[in-house]
Amino acid sequence: TISMIALHGSGGSMAAGTSTNGASRKIPGRVGDGPITGSGSYVDADVGGCGATGDGDIMMRFLPCYQAVESMRQGMSPQLAAEDAVRRMLRKYPDVQSGLVVVNSKGEHGAAASGWTFTYAYRGGSMDGTVVVSVPPLEET
Ligand code: ASP
Repeated sequence: TISMIALHGSGGSMAAGTSTNGASRKIPGRVGDGPITGSGSYVDADVGGCGATGDGDIMMRFLPCYQAVESMRQGMSPQLAAEDAVRRMLRKYPDVQSGLVVVNSKGEHGAAASGWTFTYAYRGGSMDGTVVVSVPPLEET
C-alpha cells in the first residue's frame, strides 16, 4: 500500500490518496480498504488528512482515517488522533494489523500502528531530504 498526503506550501489546500496491491490471498472482486474514502485515506484541508493500511477487511469497518480527521477537528493532535483510531479497532479486534499516518493542516504529523511496525516518510519544501519514521505497535492498555 502507498498512501500519500500532500499539503500545499502556502497552506489552504490538501490532498490524500491510497493505492494498494491488495492484501495477500486476494480474491477476485475484492475491493479492500484502500479505495474506500475514510478508510484508506481521507482529507479535509480545513483540518488535515490521513493515510492507512493494514488488514483492510477489518479496517474498512471503522473508517479509521475519517475518524482520525474528525478527532483532529475536535481538537486532538495528529498523534493522539492516530492512536485513538487504532485503539478503536484494537478494542474489537485485538490482533488487527494496522498503520495510520495523520497530518494536520499545519503540517504536524503523527502515526500509530498495531500488530506490526509501520513505516512512513515525510518531506517538507524547506527540507534537504526525506525523514523515515518507524512506528512500533501500540502497547495494550
Ligand atoms: N490494506 C491493504 C488491503 O487490505 C493491504 C495491502 O495492500 O496489502 O488490501
